[in-house]
Amino acid sequence: MSATACHLDLTRLEKVRHVGTRIVARCPACAEDGGDRGGHHLAILPSGRFACAACPGDSAHRRRVFALVGVSRACERDPEQDRRWRDGRARERLAEQDRRRLVDAARARRAAIIARHPWDPADVWEDSPQRIDCDLVESDPRHFLDALFPSDAVLWTGEVHESGQAGRHAGRWRTCREWCSASAGERVGPMVAPAIWQPGTVSRAAANVAAAPFTVLDFDGFDGAKPETPEQLCSHLAASLALIRWLREGLCWQLAAILWTGGKSLHAWFHSPAPAVLESLRITAGALGLDAGLIGRPEHPCRMPGHRHANTGNLSRVRWLQLPQPVEIALDMRPFPNGPKQLSLPHEATE
Ligand SMILES: [Zn+2]
Repeated sequence: MSATACHLDLTRLEKVRHVGTRIVARCPACAEDGGDRGGHHLAILPSGRFACAACPGDSAHRRRVFALVGVSRACERDPEQDRRWRDGRARERLAEQDRRRLVDAARARRAAIIARHPWDPADVWEDSPQRIDCDLVESDPRHFLDALFPSDAVLWTGEVHESGQAGRHAGRWRTCREWCSASAGERVGPMVAPAIWQPGTVSRAAANVAAAPFTVLDFDGFDGAKPETPEQLCSHLAASLALIRWLREGLCWQLAAILWTGGKSLHAWFHSPAPAVLESLRITAGALGLDAGLIGRPEHPCRMPGHRHANTGNLSRVRWLQLPQPVEIALDMRPFPNGPKQLSLPHEATE
């Protein structure tokens, strides 16, 4: 019994006292039947071995003693495991410090990033690979899908609630080609998820996502404050465009589209970066004025172009759009060779 001998919990014994080199106490197994009231039966040797004077050599009785007052967890401890646990905790604390530093840096340098990367709406228009000069490019949801997704990708479009019932919602999942050739009477949107789905999907659950080629950033207001006045809205949109430009030029993120929702926010569609890069953005999202809820959640619906905003009545419009990609690029989930880079603001912001 040496593995267990040293680990009786003295605080759970009665009448504990030292007698010479031994500890003597009431035997808890005998005590269960009301025995050993005087507290003479249990003897614990300096080695930790223990015995009941009333039941010498009775291993079942010893096991009962251990079951009542033994400390088995302590017995299993080994110093190597303890060291690994302490190291793990130290690593977690350092990672937490890094995260806090990143968030503080993002908040502190946001204004400087915005000041250094102004992107005038006229320049955004000029820079767009597809000219935003007709309704087709600016506000046709079919054209939007065609520019972003491979033609055989299974996509969901619809109202937020149109998901989950095979009978009623199966038709909201179609290939990009099918959505693009939908007749004028068929509704494409108003929302789309930036995900490619497994064939046969009828529920917009994360488990049904086959690929997440895009990460959509929703610039919905800084520090929890939504822009209210026209001036606030104007400076909010300018700041959003500056941050999009910084991600694209400073950190080499691959922009796919910019959409104005018709209300107070811009959505930037980026080709999804590597998971570690995405995580660095998720951590700093709040400090950068982004809705963190969409980051790494490709199943969440986003507004499509050509639909009226419920509050303002404005049509959602494309502001920047990539050319359709060859299928092997559109589906390439590997990090790009020259980026996108992780956010590490103290360095990037000074570039
Ligand atoms: Zn006993």
